[in-house]
Amino acid sequence: MLETVKGIDCNMKTLFVNGIVFDGCKKLDQNHAVLIEDDKIVEIAPIGKFKGFSGKKIDLTGHTLLPGLIDCHVHLIFSGQPSLQHTADTKSDAEIVLDALNNAQKCLEGGITSIRDCGGKNFLEFAVRDACASGQFVGPTIRAAGQPICMTGGHCYFIAREADGANEVIKAVREQIHAGCDHIKIMATGGVTTDGVNPEDSHYNHEEIAAGIREARRFNKPSASHAQGAEGIINAVKAGVSSIEHGIFLNEESITSMVNNGTYLVPTLAAINGIVNGKDVPQFMIDKTSKFVERHQQSIKNFYDAGGKLVMGTDAGTPFNFHGKNAIELKYMHDLGITATDCLIAATKNGADLMRLEHCGQISAGMNADILVVEGDATTDITAAADVNNHRIVYKNGQVIMDQLKKNTELALAA
Ligand SMILES: [Zn+2]
Repeated sequence: MLETVKGIDCNMKTLFVNGIVFDGCKKLDQNHAVLIEDDKIVEIAPIGKFKGFSGKKIDLTGHTLLPGLIDCHVHLIFSGQPSLQHTADTKSDAEIVLDALNNAQKCLEGGITSIRDCGGKNFLEFAVRDACASGQFVGPTIRAAGQPICMTGGHCYFIAREADGANEVIKAVREQIHAGCDHIKIMATGGVTTDGVNPEDSHYNHEEIAAGIREARRFNKPSASHAQGAEGIINAVKAGVSSIEHGIFLNEESITSMVNNGTYLVPTLAAINGIVNGKDVPQFMIDKTSKFVERHQQSIKNFYDAGGKLVMGTDAGTPFNFHGKNAIELKYMHDLGITATDCLIAATKNGADLMRLEHCGQISAGMNADILVVEGDATTDITAAADVNNHRIVYKNGQVIMDQLKKNTELALAA
């Protein structure tokens, strides 16, 4: 487990030189250097601008510096076990909090400097969010939904706030807000990880979901909707949801509406991969998931081709979809024909936009010094960022979380 802030190498002024810089929108076309001071990025400019700089310099020749990655869909309370329900039903709250903290720190070590939790239990993950935000523990920036809201017996009912009818959905939203949520998660359809529900069924009617999303918006909270079947997707999009999670059965109508409304899509390809390729995954999950793999991929591709806004979201915590390996989602996205640069935009600037993180997701003056350095050119070879074995440096708010380059330098000096 990572140590607390005290005792960890904090930077005063550090200048990163000679690397490729991806700033959250594009690869910069000259040899830019990036200056960080304490917890902030203070300047980014062509190298000549820093002539005479006498502080600490890090040579990034052959490497790419990019904003720390953002995963817009994780479940901190789960750790990749084969069954979500079994985990939720058998672990004590105390065990779950420890798991959640450990999972948050694993994400950070895997280059993920901000995460959006899309459904926890008993608000336990809020304690982890707050402990990381206060500096009691090192961790990523966390935004959390609290309990997902579902119909009686709906998707993830075993951790959710079950609510039926518009009035009760409104009450459930108010409960999440009262408990301190950052956004609302509402289950528009069935899902693959809950036994006995069909992903294609719409679990809320338009009035119910619209009431919940409207209530969230009244308190300036964004909303995320687990939405797999076509009708549920349409219901959530028409209600003005901020993001569609999974989006297996996107069609022309929903894609057009999403593009027009600026609704984000969170593909969670890693979740599908984990279920299909995992061990001892309950048969009902495999049966449901394997039917949808190609349809899901086609939906994402169609959405991308239509100019829709994508973020990176893994659903980390679901079966064999491990916190810390989140970045692999970039490769799965790229495999569908999404360019490396667009994958990186999804995982940086777009993620920050969806999560309303004003100071994350970009390499520019005034941003938090959340930084990932990878070996190779991540803008042309996505595996440089997607495979954690290529990660070399991770900073969170200027604090060194991992520095493989330093280790290599020290080894060379010792030799
Ligand atoms: Zn999820």
